[in-house]
Amino acid sequence: MIWVAIASILIALVCAGSMIRAQRARALASADLSRANEANDQLAAHAANYHQKLRALSESSGAGMVVLDPKGAIIHANAAAGRILNFQGNDLVGHSLIHATLSSEMQQFVVAAASSGQPTSQDFQMSGSPSRVLRGSVHSLSPGLSGMPEVVLILVDVTELHRLETIRRDFVANVSHELRTPLASIRAIAETLYEGALHDEEVAGSFLETIIREADRLGRISQDLLVLSDAESKEPQRGRFNSAILVSDVVERSKKHAEQSGVKLSLSVPPDLPLFASRDQMEQVLVNLVDNAIKYTAAEGSVCVKAYTEDERVIFSVSDTGIGIMHQDLPRIFERFYRVDKARSRESGGTGLGLSIVKNIVEAHHGEVKVLSEFNRGSTFIVSLPIIKDS
Ligand code: ADP
Repeated sequence: MIWVAIASILIALVCAGSMIRAQRARALASADLSRANEANDQLAAHAANYHQKLRALSESSGAGMVVLDPKGAIIHANAAAGRILNFQGNDLVGHSLIHATLSSEMQQFVVAAASSGQPTSQDFQMSGSPSRVLRGSVHSLSPGLSGMPEVVLILVDVTELHRLETIRRDFVANVSHELRTPLASIRAIAETLYEGALHDEEVAGSFLETIIREADRLGRISQDLLVLSDAESKEPQRGRFNSAILVSDVVERSKKHAEQSGVKLSLSVPPDLPLFASRDQMEQVLVNLVDNAIKYTAAEGSVCVKAYTEDERVIFSVSDTGIGIMHQDLPRIFERFYRVDKARSRESGGTGLGLSIVKNIVEAHHGEVKVLSEFNRGSTFIVSLPIIKDS
């Protein structure tokens, strides 16, 4: 960690200073004036070197660095510290820590850490909008820069880290909930069969069907989780291909699903629509959108798939005359596991991951996905991708 490295270097510099001071005292004691002068020069050179190194180190660091005197006044602060603390004035030097941070919690932490003498760190929720989280690490130097005891406070903005950690925690909780539901159902059915239902042919048949359905559901969730993780963590394996053919293929393969649902499926594509992208991932995007459009459209409704170019971009649009999405749900439908109607999604085999897969893939290709929808009238999902040349 950068602040640990900086603190170690500071401590090393201070130790070197102490050794030279000791050398100077020994020389004076033995009344060796010329050696004392030499040590004096060395000490002055060391102090200049020390200041220079400290300044260069702290200015080159992205972490904020604040040095406090024993009374709690700031005697050194790098530019990053001012930025991280959103300090409105020109210079932090001369201000008290509480004035610079507006955090009594941080002030108390620094005082306690300084008196313990042990390096320690803590995260602080800062007030203000947007609210931020700062990680403060305290190291005591005795003696410090001025020859007096000092406290070095290293500050790092960990707001993004905290946000990602919250997403990760929520995701793990959601995954475990999504996996537990079908597992609980399988277990309950197996128990009932074990307790005697196995001998009732009709009941046993329907129970076994449910077990198969729930096991398939677990399979789909794990498959979608893998696709999502690949889309998030790997660079798309791009290649040049005619995306018009891909769109036509996906529509052709969806015909059976549309027929079974009584939905009319139509297609409009030019003969040639070159795209430089991951073909497999684009197929996944189209399959998810067309599948959803059919799934959320009642019999007699229609789904229309289009592909075209507009302003140097390839556009895929999938429109349906289905159930639509209410205004308040629109911003959330791309979240993992978010479903407007859980029961309906479950019934149609949904995992709640389809649209987040679409969003991740499209964004990994530097594109964007939009949705226009009117409740009870239908929805249009529009994917727009930049036409990137492969050479
Ligand atoms: P699911 O597996 O539930 O379909 P998705 O991530 O694909 O999950 O979609 C999230 C939710 O967005 C769906 O549960 C549904 O409520 C809504 N949704 C997606 N596509 C459509 C659509 N074409 N029409 C209406 N609602 C849709």
